[in-house]
Amino acid sequence: MKKLEMIYEGKAKKVYNTDDANVVIVDYKDDATALNGLKKGTIHDKGIINNRVTNHLMKMLEKEGVPTHFIEEISDRETIVKKVSIVPLEVIVRNIAAGSLAKRLGLEEGVKMKRTVLEYCYKDDALGDPMVNEYHILAMEYCTKEELDLIASYSLKINEVLSAYLKDLNIELIDFKLEFGKTADGTIVLADEISPDTCRFWDSVTHEKLDKDRFRRDMGGEEDAYKEIMKRLLGE
Ligand code: UDP
Repeated sequence: MKKLEMIYEGKAKKVYNTDDANVVIVDYKDDATALNGLKKGTIHDKGIINNRVTNHLMKMLEKEGVPTHFIEEISDRETIVKKVSIVPLEVIVRNIAAGSLAKRLGLEEGVKMKRTVLEYCYKDDALGDPMVNEYHILAMEYCTKEELDLIASYSLKINEVLSAYLKDLNIELIDFKLEFGKTADGTIVLADEISPDTCRFWDSVTHEKLDKDRFRRDMGGEEDAYKEIMKRLLGE
């Protein structure tokens, strides 16, 4: 597989074309941003950890029947994935109140939700990724009803699989963000990443934060937190 020109550079990843029109290579960076780009920095080796953690979890999800864009990890930071058109939604899954939900509903962080909460945000940096509901999504034709139903059911299944797996590693899955894409033949697959950048992970015993909140909130210790997640998930 030949790596060709860069087609996209985001906050945390670069994407390259390859000599196969259905396949791209993602290259994970150490750059970190928060507060919609207002706060910038780097987290040493984050790119390596996010690449490896994402692939580890995507392989597990594939086995559990959730289709993903994952094809093959080719280096510490690079992975071959299916080329997709991204459904312009961030799907947020929440088990425990934190972050913007805690603020919006006046809840203390750490309060368990009585049932899983699904939220959608329209992916648009200029608008600040506004929250939208099913009516907005269908009226704006961000995807079809069938696609949205599938995205919702995959998201809940992913939550079940990941929550159970992480529980055994003494990690509480507080909330996380997913993105889905459509392959050339129209199949909906899980895309983007599942990593400490996009999930809230708390140690089950100490409730210590093991995710990007350490960077967002200037708590320090983000490098050790990312390393700890990699160690618990991949044993190294
Ligand atoms: N999240 C993300 N990207 C975003 C917004 C949120 O990966 O642009 C993740 C975040 O890491 C957390 C979950 O989605 O695990 C819920 O985030 P929330 O809405 O509470 O926003 P935040 O408090 O992070 O601004």
